[in-house]
Amino acid sequence: MDTVIKKNKIWLSSPHIGMNEEKYVKEAFDTNWVAPLGPNVDGFEKSIENYVGLNSYVAALSSGTAAIHLALQILGVSNGDEVLCQSFTFCGSANPIMYLGATPVFIDSEKETWNISPILLEEAIIDRIKRGKKPKAIVAVHLYGMPYKVNEIQKISEKYQIPVVEDSAEALGSDYKGIKCGSFGDLGVFSFNGNKIITTSGGGALVTKNKEFKKKAIFLATQARDQAPHYLHSSVGYNYRMSNILAGIGRGQMEVLDERVKARRNNYKFYFQELNNLSEISFLDEPLDFYSNRWLTCILTPSFEKREKIRLSLLKQNIESRPLWKPMHQQPIFEKYPAYTDDTSADLFERGLCLPSGSDLTHEDLKRITNIIKSI
Ligand SMILES: *Cc1c(COP(=O)(O)O)cnc(C)c1O
Repeated sequence: MDTVIKKNKIWLSSPHIGMNEEKYVKEAFDTNWVAPLGPNVDGFEKSIENYVGLNSYVAALSSGTAAIHLALQILGVSNGDEVLCQSFTFCGSANPIMYLGATPVFIDSEKETWNISPILLEEAIIDRIKRGKKPKAIVAVHLYGMPYKVNEIQKISEKYQIPVVEDSAEALGSDYKGIKCGSFGDLGVFSFNGNKIITTSGGGALVTKNKEFKKKAIFLATQARDQAPHYLHSSVGYNYRMSNILAGIGRGQMEVLDERVKARRNNYKFYFQELNNLSEISFLDEPLDFYSNRWLTCILTPSFEKREKIRLSLLKQNIESRPLWKPMHQQPIFEKYPAYTDDTSADLFERGLCLPSGSDLTHEDLKRITNIIKSI
């Protein structure tokens, strides 16, 4: 008989609420600001603007995906255009390209940050132009919180005059050369989904240094209402604004963001110290000038079989882990679109595993996880 008592479930990445979220939400109820506007929305936007710095303007939205959709539309992406997109990512980076009737062109990753390869990106741009169509935008992603090669990507963006949508959904709190992620693209994007480093249960934000872009984003996110006492519309809008209730959660979460980054980085440190001496496990180091929030700690194993063995052993002990993102160019919905690949992301998907990385994990939880992995 199995005498092992089933231990507590350890999740991959749980919400972690601080002290003041309830207070802000209660204020919204007490003052009847139960609407997709109000003091919490303004306060949340202001706190993100202060955090990102560099005179950024922020629009709080219903999701990160909505933010990417608006970013692409503001950059003029429309029916029949091509958009370059990092292949190694979550589908939320790529789906908005489809909403606009544009064609995604997927770009593989380089090995130092696991993000969009500058070499393949430039190759793709040259090739797309040669085929008769200059891509309208680049969607680059700071995956798992590790910044992409910002310098190289910006140089390519400037050289070919193609704007960047910076998908920073997983990288709030990360920075490159001391400058916060979210501020590098022509438009930047954050997500506050329940599994992200901070959460509003669901939500997102658009970041820009261009005041007109923020105005345009809010216009589009509130059904594109023209100036008039009645409802007047001369373009198609969306219902994408963040609720004042959820923004209250966000205000509280911003107050603990630095602690959450610290906790996640400490998780990484613990895993690294415990597991890096195992010859079959490796980690993604931070290159010089790169600072990751370590949203999720990822390990690489020698093979698909080894990775599955670890994943299933953890699952048996009620511990959730997850393979790395399956590249978009290998997804059934996207595999027919052009892709510039060298198999880097396909290999990462085969061999990589995300370990539980919540900021509320205890030392005991982490020990439990590393002991199982060591025993394999
Ligand atoms: C979570 C995520 C998104 C989408 O954000 P939502 O708020 O869930 O819509 C986009 N890109 C990446 C890389 C993400 O991890």
